Amino acid sequence: MATINGAALMARSLKEQGVDYMFGIVGFPVQGVASAAQDAGIEFIGMRNEQAASYAAHAAGYLTGRPQACLTVSGPGVIHAFAGLANAQQNCWPMILIGGASPIYQNGMGAFQEERQVELATPYCKYAHAIEHTSRIPFYVAEAVRNSLYGRPGAAYLDFPDDIIRGEVDESEVVSANRVGDPPRTLADPEAVEEALSVLESAERPLVIVGKGMAWSRAEDEVRAFMERTQLPFLASPMGKGILPDDDPLSVGAARSTALREADVVFLMGARLNWIMHFGLPPRFSENVRVIQLDIAQEEIGRNVAPEVALVGDGKAVTQQLNTALTNRQWFYPAETEWRATLQAKASENAEAVKPMIDDDSSPTNYYRAFRDIEDWLPDDAIIIGEGANTMDIGRTQMLNRRARHRLDAGTYGTMGVGLGFAIAAAVTNPDKPIVSVQGDSAFGFSGMELETMVRYNLPVKLIVLNNGGIGGGVGPLEKGRRVPPNILTYGARYEGMLEALGGKGMYVSDPADLRSALDEVMEHDGPAMINVPLNPRAGRKPQKFGWLTT
Ligand code: ADP
Ligand code: MG
Repeated sequence: MATINGAALMARSLKEQGVDYMFGIVGFPVQGVASAAQDAGIEFIGMRNEQAASYAAHAAGYLTGRPQACLTVSGPGVIHAFAGLANAQQNCWPMILIGGASPIYQNGMGAFQEERQVELATPYCKYAHAIEHTSRIPFYVAEAVRNSLYGRPGAAYLDFPDDIIRGEVDESEVVSANRVGDPPRTLADPEAVEEALSVLESAERPLVIVGKGMAWSRAEDEVRAFMERTQLPFLASPMGKGILPDDDPLSVGAARSTALREADVVFLMGARLNWIMHFGLPPRFSENVRVIQLDIAQEEIGRNVAPEVALVGDGKAVTQQLNTALTNRQWFYPAETEWRATLQAKASENAEAVKPMIDDDSSPTNYYRAFRDIEDWLPDDAIIIGEGANTMDIGRTQMLNRRARHRLDAGTYGTMGVGLGFAIAAAVTNPDKPIVSVQGDSAFGFSGMELETMVRYNLPVKLIVLNNGGIGGGVGPLEKGRRVPPNILTYGARYEGMLEALGGKGMYVSDPADLRSALDEVMEHDGPAMINVPLNPRAGRKPQKFGWLTT
C-alpha cells in the first residue's frame, strides 16, 4: 500500500477539516509542510514575521468561521507567533498554530532551536499538544480544530517535530478522524428567556450592548429582528460594530458614556464587562444597574457584576429564542421616553463638540478632518482595520460600520501591530471587498515589512497612516542634539516611500484639501497603496469626561 509522510498528512488533515488558509514563514523543519499545504489546496501566504502571520491566522478564523493555520519554524519562530496565539485567545477567535520542533530523538540534547514549546504555549491556548506519531496527525488536527472552534472559541497549538514531519507511514496505519462539523448551537433555559424579557419590560432606561460574540455567532439577522421588534436603544462594542448599522436610529453610540452611566438595565449580548466596558462598575455604570448577560461561556457569567438573568447559549440561537418568545408579548420600548430624549440630547452635544475640528481645513490636519474625507469615501462593504491610540479611538466613532464582521482592531488585548496582519487576512479571505486599514504611525511600524507581503501577493489593501510622529502624541520636528523623548517617532517619516520602493503605490498628502482626491486615486490602483497623512502633532480627541482606562 502507498505511504504518506507527515507533511502531506498534516496538509491533507487540515484541508479535510476546513482549514483553507495557512499564514507563516518556512525554514527548518517546516519547509515541506508549506509545499504540501499548497499541493493539498490550502492557500499559503508567506509572511515576513511570525507575529504578523499569527495575527493574520486568527483574523482569518474570525472572518471565515473556521480556524485557520499559522505555520512557524521551531524555537524563535514559535515564540514570535505566541503574540497571535495570546491575541486569539483573548479575542475568543479560533486559530491553530503549528510549530515546527526539533526532532524528538534529540530532546534535551541542545538541539537546533530546541524549546519547550508545548509548555510555553499552554497558557495562551485552549488546547496544546505535541504530535508524537506521524500516523496520529489526523487525530491531533481534529482535536485542535474542535477545541479551538467549539464552545467559546480560542487558540490551539500543535507541536510538529522534524522526525514526525519527515516520517513515512503506510496509509493503512493512518488513524482517521471525523470532520469536525460547525459548532452545535446551544439554547438558553426557556425560563431565563422569559425572565430576560420581563426584566427588559420593567426597565426605564434600558440599554443593549452588542459585542463581537454576536458577530462570531453570525447572529446579525436575529439581532436586527430583535431590535426592530423591541425598539431598544443599543450600542456596539468596538468589534460588535456593524452587526446593526452604526447609523441605525436606535444606536446611542454617540452618547456612549451617558448611556452606560445612566442605564438601569443593561442587556449584554456577547460582550464582556472587562476594561473596555469599564467592568460594569461605578462610576462608569450606575451602582444598581441590573444586568442580563448572554454568553456562550458559562464561566463568564457574573464576572465583575452578578447578572439578574443569565442566558447561556449560542448568540444566534438564543436571540432566536427571544424573538420567538416576543411573539407572545405586546410590549416594546416606547418611541418617546425621557431616556431617549436624554441620549439624543447628549449625542447632539457630542456632535457639536467635534464639529469645529471636522470643519477645520488648516494644514497639517487633525484627526476629525481627516476622518471626514475617509468616511465620505469609504465603500459600504469595506472591511475596516483600525489601530493606534487616537487613530483607533477617533476612527471608531468617525468611520461607520454597516455590516457585521467588517471591523478589526486592537481588540480585547489592546494589541498594537495587528493591523497589517489583519489587513492581509481580510484581503486573502475576502478578495471581492475593499480592505481599508487606518493606522497610526506607531501601530503601522510594528509590522511594516508586511508591505512586501502585500506587494508579492498583489493584495489591494488601501492603507492610510495618520502620522503624528509619536506614540500617542508627537511634538513635531525635534531640534538637533535634543534628547529624544521615549514616545517620539520621526515626524514626517515617508512611510509611503517604503511601499513605493517595494512596488506599491504611495502618496504623501500634507494638505487636507488634497485628501479626498488622493483617496479616490488609491482606490483606483490595482494593488496595495498607502496615503501617508502628516497630522498636527498636537491634534487629539475632543475632551473626554473620563480619561483613558479610568474605571
Ligand atoms: P466585545 O469586545 O465585543 O465586548 P468580548 O470578546 O469581550 O466582546 O466578548 C465576547 C463574548 O462572546 C465572550 O464572552 C464569548 O464567550 C462570547 N461568545 C463567543 N461565541 C459566542 C457565541 N457563539 N454565542 C454567544 N456568545 C459567544
Ligand atoms: Mg502616532
